[in-house]
Amino acid sequence: MRLSRYFMPILKENPKEAEIVSHRLMLRAGMIRQQSQGIYSWLPLGKRVLDKVNAIIRDEQNRAGAIELSMPTLQSAELWQESGRYDAYGKEMLRIKDRQDRPMLYGPTNEEMVTDIFRSSVKSYKDLPLNLYHIQLKFRDEIRPRFGTMRSREFMMKDAYSFDLTREGAEHSYNKMFAAYLRTFDRLGLRAIPMRADTGPIGGKLSHEFIILADTGESEVFCHKDFVDFDIPGAHTDFDSVEGLQAIFDKWTSLYAATSEMHDEAAFNAVPEGDRLSARGIEVGHIFYFGTKYSEPMGAKVQGPDGKEHFVHMGSYGIGPTRLVPAIIEASHDDNGIIWPASVAPFDNVVINMKAGDQACDDTCELIYAALTKAGKDVLYDDTDDRAGTKFATADLIGVPVQIIAGPRAVASGEVEVKDRKTGARETMTIEAAINRFVA
Ligand code: ATP
Ligand code: MG
Repeated sequence: MRLSRYFMPILKENPKEAEIVSHRLMLRAGMIRQQSQGIYSWLPLGKRVLDKVNAIIRDEQNRAGAIELSMPTLQSAELWQESGRYDAYGKEMLRIKDRQDRPMLYGPTNEEMVTDIFRSSVKSYKDLPLNLYHIQLKFRDEIRPRFGTMRSREFMMKDAYSFDLTREGAEHSYNKMFAAYLRTFDRLGLRAIPMRADTGPIGGKLSHEFIILADTGESEVFCHKDFVDFDIPGAHTDFDSVEGLQAIFDKWTSLYAATSEMHDEAAFNAVPEGDRLSARGIEVGHIFYFGTKYSEPMGAKVQGPDGKEHFVHMGSYGIGPTRLVPAIIEASHDDNGIIWPASVAPFDNVVINMKAGDQACDDTCELIYAALTKAGKDVLYDDTDDRAGTKFATADLIGVPVQIIAGPRAVASGEVEVKDRKTGARETMTIEAAINRFVA
């Protein structure tokens, strides 16, 4: 992508409305724009990161056996009347009437709709287990939207829903998502700790929130410090192994970890003092097992091996991609801007032409840009005629992991400078060496 033809509206000044660093940096880097309170456009740079986050989420959902579909944002009130949640949900639900005066709503979550899809076509235990997910916009009319896309009114959620014949089956489905979440957050460069959680309006029995420790987090959390170094389940984890996944779950729930709603002071005080971590955290995921809470009122049942009808046991599993992007920034930035983990960086490299219009600089940059692009890399080429200082500041701000800098002096001797955004380390190398290093 040539910066001269791209759309990346950088702000020079710190926006006054932004209270936390991630919100400030997302606005300054031109990643998002507020359209009305708690409702955002994702501008091209932000959209690239969001897409990469979603690709990782999708990959791990698929690995764990979940199946993607797409459900609409608008739902009919009838479904919610069936489950009893239409009245219970309160003011967070945006209620709408269509032209026939039928009550509709902008979905805050999808338990009812997915249960309706399930009951219309699944009739036998032989079709279980089943886990259906989508990545879709939600709307919750939050009383206090704030911190940019961290807590917005319209936001994106990956929500998965599992269906099983028995409670034991549902627990295995829960454990699959539990392990998938550990892997997902790890690949996003984050350490998320599963904590016992309240089930809230979703309702249910077993629930964990996945929390990232951060000073700007809205939740107060308490946990054993060893969680920070626990091993993440590997790529070869067998998601069909009941014992294997139970062992992962048991290990990750063997030590104390709870949000303030579930906090048990006495249990926490039993943890040796030096091992206690009491901190603030950002909730990036939340999983629930809620049994037959929706399947019973909505009549979602299957024929079991005993020939009888059974209400299915369900769970639901949410991750917030539009919250994860700022959460990653909270965890990874410095005074100059964002430092993206390579897995979600909007571009792999930025080629900086320090003197656009200079034949040798132009030729060198074009050569590198073409070679890396051909190798399938996402490359941003700063071909603008801005001052070199401005270009360096922009490159640091937007956090691309590797900067390849071509200035007249280096280029005259067939060289470029390579800067690592994270460490700040600079290295001079031949143009060929730079290409060879980054096509790999
Ligand atoms: P919170 O406690 O932060 O209000 P919640 O418990 O209501 O969130 P869930 O229903 O568990 O949220 O939703 C699943 C995931 O969706 C959350 O873990 C979070 O990542 C994301 N999410 C929820 N509400 C918002 C929001 N207002 N803005 C951005 N992401 C959100
Ligand atoms: Mg929650």
